Amino acid sequence: RKLGIALVGLGKYSEGELAPALEKTTNCRLAGIVTGSPDKADTWKKKYDLPDKNVYDYKNFDKIVDNPDIDIVYVVLPNSMHAEYTIRAAKAGKHVICEKPMAMNPEECQQMIDACKKANRQLSIGYRLHFEPHNREMMRLGQQEVFGKVNRIIAEDGQVQDDSTPWRLGGGIGGGGPLRDVGVYCLQGAIYTKGQIPIAVSAKLHPVTDPKKFSKVEEGVDFQLFFADGTTADCKASFNEKFNKLRAEAAKGWFELAPAYAYSGLKGKTSQGKMEIENVPQQAHQMDAFAECILKNQPTTVPGELGMRDVQLIEAIFEAARTGRKVSTKDVLQVMDKS
Ligand code: NAD
Repeated sequence: RKLGIALVGLGKYSEGELAPALEKTTNCRLAGIVTGSPDKADTWKKKYDLPDKNVYDYKNFDKIVDNPDIDIVYVVLPNSMHAEYTIRAAKAGKHVICEKPMAMNPEECQQMIDACKKANRQLSIGYRLHFEPHNREMMRLGQQEVFGKVNRIIAEDGQVQDDSTPWRLGGGIGGGGPLRDVGVYCLQGAIYTKGQIPIAVSAKLHPVTDPKKFSKVEEGVDFQLFFADGTTADCKASFNEKFNKLRAEAAKGWFELAPAYAYSGLKGKTSQGKMEIENVPQQAHQMDAFAECILKNQPTTVPGELGMRDVQLIEAIFEAARTGRKVSTKDVLQVMDKS
């Protein structure tokens, strides 16, 4: 049986990536939608042949508890709404995929984890790159020390942000900014390439070149991760410059992806030549993998705890930027992807 997924929030990512990906999945299907816009509801109902009973708005969403067609709720809302809708979905007895970054602070993350545990439902974060073969190759090369010990990592993700999603620039309900939005890929990339969690972080915000656009969130941030064995990761996230790279320098060579975090067209190289790896529909693989975990009653490799770890690290990076000091991460959960 294909598990039914309901997308909550029909914005850019749901429309452009997740709904098309759900047409390529084998273990799950688009079964419902949650939207505040009657126009969007009509368009999606027609396009994806959805029955009226599987279309919800933000007020009647909790009635999803009575709908056996929906097994998984996928929260694709602005970051500051992730906690509320994940908890409401868990209370309605649904498994949950929540987009990255998991929430606005570790306390919210903990409440989300607790709500899913209490409901005996699985919680997964939308970390699509764990199901993407170039990034999996970075994990293998780094964690298995195929080129010897990894000494230095460079992880950079930046895009020029327009104002089409005002919350990303801190408008409306807020919850945006480049560290939370794209910096999380750098954090993830550095950690899964090294296979360790950093023991400390330092950070410096970029100078503000566009004060009007960046009055509520940082324009960009440089941050450094320090690992126990002396390895460092130099990371950079920006909403006003374009870059997209994950590189590891090891004792006996190097390996890198550029672009590293895109939806498609990823390319990889090592000191021994090109990586011959195909691009795959990442989101389809991600959702199929989660559905399989539910069907087989196995834990997901990208659980809420992993999302919470990253939110804790993001807090430490903001603190380092604010104080100008190196900040220890000793209280950060020791959660790794063991897959
Ligand atoms: P978006 O602004 O295009 O979509 C958000 C949706 O939420 C819109 O449909 C909007 O109408 C709805 N919404 C409901 N209540 C709202 C409110 N009070 N204020 C604003 N919007 C409200 O954003 P998006 O780019 O689709 O991103 C949504 C989430 O998906 C974010 O958490 C983002 O980080 C994540 N995302 C993940 C990836 C990935 O590669 N994993 C890529 C893009 C976005």
